[in-house]
Amino acid sequence: MLVCEKGRVAGEQSGRNWGWVRQQGRSPIELPLMMESLRLWQGFTRELGEDIGFTQGGCLYLADNPKDFEAFGNWLPNASAVGLDTRLLSSRELSTVLKGDVSRWAGGMYTQSDGRAEPSRAVPGIARAASRAGARIVSNCAVRGIERAAGRTQAVVTEHGVVNASSVVCAGGAWTSLFCASLDIAVPQLRVKGTVARTAPAAVVLNGEAWCPHVAIRRRWDGGYTVAHGSALHHSLVPATLRFATKFFPAFMQEHGAIRLRIGRDFLQALKTPRRWPLDKESPFERERMLDPAPDEGVLAEMRAGLDRWFPEMGAPAFVESWGGMIESSPDVLPMLSPVAGLEGFFIATGFSGHGFGIGPGAGQLVADMVTNRASAAALAPFRLSRFFDGSPIRPGPTI
Ligand SMILES: Cc1cc2nc3c(=O)[nH]c(=O)nc-3n(C[C@H](O)[C@H](O)[C@H](O)COP(=O)(O)OP(=O)(O)OC[C@H]3O[C@@H](n4cnc5c(N)ncnc54)[C@H](O)[C@@H]3O)c2cc1C
Repeated sequence: MLVCEKGRVAGEQSGRNWGWVRQQGRSPIELPLMMESLRLWQGFTRELGEDIGFTQGGCLYLADNPKDFEAFGNWLPNASAVGLDTRLLSSRELSTVLKGDVSRWAGGMYTQSDGRAEPSRAVPGIARAASRAGARIVSNCAVRGIERAAGRTQAVVTEHGVVNASSVVCAGGAWTSLFCASLDIAVPQLRVKGTVARTAPAAVVLNGEAWCPHVAIRRRWDGGYTVAHGSALHHSLVPATLRFATKFFPAFMQEHGAIRLRIGRDFLQALKTPRRWPLDKESPFERERMLDPAPDEGVLAEMRAGLDRWFPEMGAPAFVESWGGMIESSPDVLPMLSPVAGLEGFFIATGFSGHGFGIGPGAGQLVADMVTNRASAAALAPFRLSRFFDGSPIRPGPTI
């Protein structure tokens, strides 16, 4: 197996995320795959032989008013349908999992078996283990396109040469739609930017992760916290926004409180990006080796205020680093793990919509089964690309 990475492993989303390995709050459609992923995460530390920071410290959603607390209850049937240990905690019961004055909260939803891991350690660790098992991983190697014959995949054309391949998985994260467009394959996908920071080591307020609309925190292996805004994402309007507008409309309506729209340079930049290119010349993937968006200063200020207001027991630790991460999303906020009609041997694995770190191991297993013809049609059906084109209703799942 050959993995071509245009930049470096974990340079984009997989190394920039919050590190939540969460079952709680997911769509029932992907919940079984996520539970299988958690099982795989549990074995990783032993199998990889290195500390990837995985631990099951629990996931907590917090409500500061009774209405939001009550709304958490709507998700509980999804948990009980699959035997997941999610429960509601009253304001007083919160003290069993959260240190400090819990009376500021109306209550919470909690899943003790949920986990966390360190993206910057886990993903390179998994890549090293894959190499030891025989995979060849080549960094700074952009794939420019595919050679095909008689409707079949024949080879990938990389910036360093051509590699014969009868099966190709395009798992290009936020670049998948552009790559597929060059093959005349429509993949509805848009980008939103998240802003993240890490703190200096600070007092322990919980062992896992917690979310409320104002701020999201995750305990880190180094004694600090990874911090983000609970509900602030930026989307720069680009031609793809218009191209896929009808498909993304339901998701936009669901998330309009969190999405901050912008129009500016990105629109012109995207207009200038070719959608087809000669395979013997530099491609867009070599021109931008790594998506490294700047964190948003305004969002950082809101995160600072949110952290100090809602988790004062942490002792207001300084933000010692901050970064931006470009999240790619599908219209129903669920992954696309799918063969592509009309191009045999070509598959896509994308659309993880801001929660693909946790589900990665199970999704990877399912993709491997898909490529080797061992996946059942039932397992793949919810994740097929064609759901966006066959008239199926687009009902976005929850994003957090
Ligand atoms: C700020 C933020 C917070 C998040 N928080 C969480 C979380 O707490 N929990 C969770 O489960 N998920 C979270 N996610 C989502 C999660 O990180 C992603 O869903 C997941 O990492 C996607 O993995 P991927 O391999 O599909 O994409 P990526 O990690 O983006 O990898 C795709 C790779 O493909 C490479 N590539 C693209 N095109 C080419 C080409 N033509 N040739 C060669 N290489 C190419 C890119 O360089 C890139 O490295 C978050 C994401 C962000 C950005």
